[in-house]
Amino acid sequence: MSKTLVSVALWALGGWLLGAWLGAATGWAVFALGLLAMVLVSGLQLSRIARWVRRIDDPPPPSVGPWDEILAPIYRKLKRNRLDLKESQRHFRRALLAAEALPDGALTLASDKSLLWCNQTAVGHLGLDLSRDRGHSILNIIRAPEFARYAHRDHWDKPLILHLGHGPYTRTLLLHMTPYAAGQFLLVTRDITQIERLENTRKDFVANVSHEMRTPLTVLSGFIETLLDLPDEAIPVAQRQQYLRLMEQQARNMQALVSDLLTLSSLESSPHGPGEPVALAPVIRDALTQCQALSNERHQFDIQISDTLRIVGQASELASAIGNLLTNAVRYTPSGGVIRVRWCLQPDGQACYQVSDTGIGIDEAVIPRLTERFFRVDRGRSRATGGTGLGLAITKHVVLRHQASLDIASTPGEGSTFTIRFPASRVCSRAPDAQPDADAPRR
Ligand code: ADP
Repeated sequence: MSKTLVSVALWALGGWLLGAWLGAATGWAVFALGLLAMVLVSGLQLSRIARWVRRIDDPPPPSVGPWDEILAPIYRKLKRNRLDLKESQRHFRRALLAAEALPDGALTLASDKSLLWCNQTAVGHLGLDLSRDRGHSILNIIRAPEFARYAHRDHWDKPLILHLGHGPYTRTLLLHMTPYAAGQFLLVTRDITQIERLENTRKDFVANVSHEMRTPLTVLSGFIETLLDLPDEAIPVAQRQQYLRLMEQQARNMQALVSDLLTLSSLESSPHGPGEPVALAPVIRDALTQCQALSNERHQFDIQISDTLRIVGQASELASAIGNLLTNAVRYTPSGGVIRVRWCLQPDGQACYQVSDTGIGIDEAVIPRLTERFFRVDRGRSRATGGTGLGLAITKHVVLRHQASLDIASTPGEGSTFTIRFPASRVCSRAPDAQPDADAPRR
């Protein structure tokens, strides 16, 4: 402004001096011309400013006379605002990325509980499509009466457990609503399907173990009571002997159960290293000696095992898997049956341990369940032969710890074949032996 006033004053002074020298009319004319020139220059400057306003992010035009003083602070303020905005956008983006990276689902809801935003985890948990569901009430998105009751509460001190989906596709979610900002809500979702499954497995396991223990303990305490209550002469010697034999059998069953439980627990708790080269032939022969004693010459054994074949693994774990398959073959094959044992290297480089029997066989429908803990096809037969229902569960565990596979093929009334295949990467000897599958009973 001061520049403009100085210019007007200079023109006025020039006009007055010329007016004094050449006459008043000339002086006024010079003054008017000066003002006109000032207006023209100002118009030019304003049009340059108008052009700049259209591209306000660029620096203002240089030397626009008196307008410099006005434009410079405006431009500086604009520049500072732009930097502040960029910084806020960076913070916002970082916060958004952090929210996206959350392992839990997060949804923001407006005061009427309509969906404002959600992260990818929430999309997966609730099957949302943000472009479709944004603005819709969460009560229409999660259509469960218990959630509607939960969402209508005034405050949420506890989370809600919700089961969504059906059958094997059921997903268990933990939902927790929290008010935030002015009347908005944050809904956090956590998938606890796996945790719930583990908890159920743990409960089932404890119930099964208690049940397995109760039977032999009831039998034992019954006999002990009888022997304590009745005078010695009231029980004939033969009967006393029979009681003691039955008690011994129950005690053995409990011992077997405890031993299998300890094996399972050590499999689950011990660290899983690659192991060391193990020659399985002596391990198989040891197990065979015990099985032949169990068989008591009731079965015929057909054995072909490679003495040179070694695999990298844990010897004690492998011994337990090998022994389980052999004892099962003896226990589920009636007298006169044949038990075939093969341990060989296959042409594809895998090492194969196979036990086939001509026993009672297994219904195809239950084969996938055989490796479940405490699963037995015939509970009575398993118990009578000292089974715990854990043998194949242990075997499967060992197999998985060695990156091997367990195949079960069986025909009821004809027999079963259990095959463990160790990957070539675990095999130490490479000369292929005879094929194990040649005349095994097929499913
Ligand atoms: P168990 O101690 O009861 O034998 P396992 O886990 O070893 O427990 O086996 C589970 C079930 O699988 C057994 O109860 C039995 O019904 C069935 N089974 C296992 N091996 C054989 C086999 N060779 N022939 C027939 N049935 C078998």
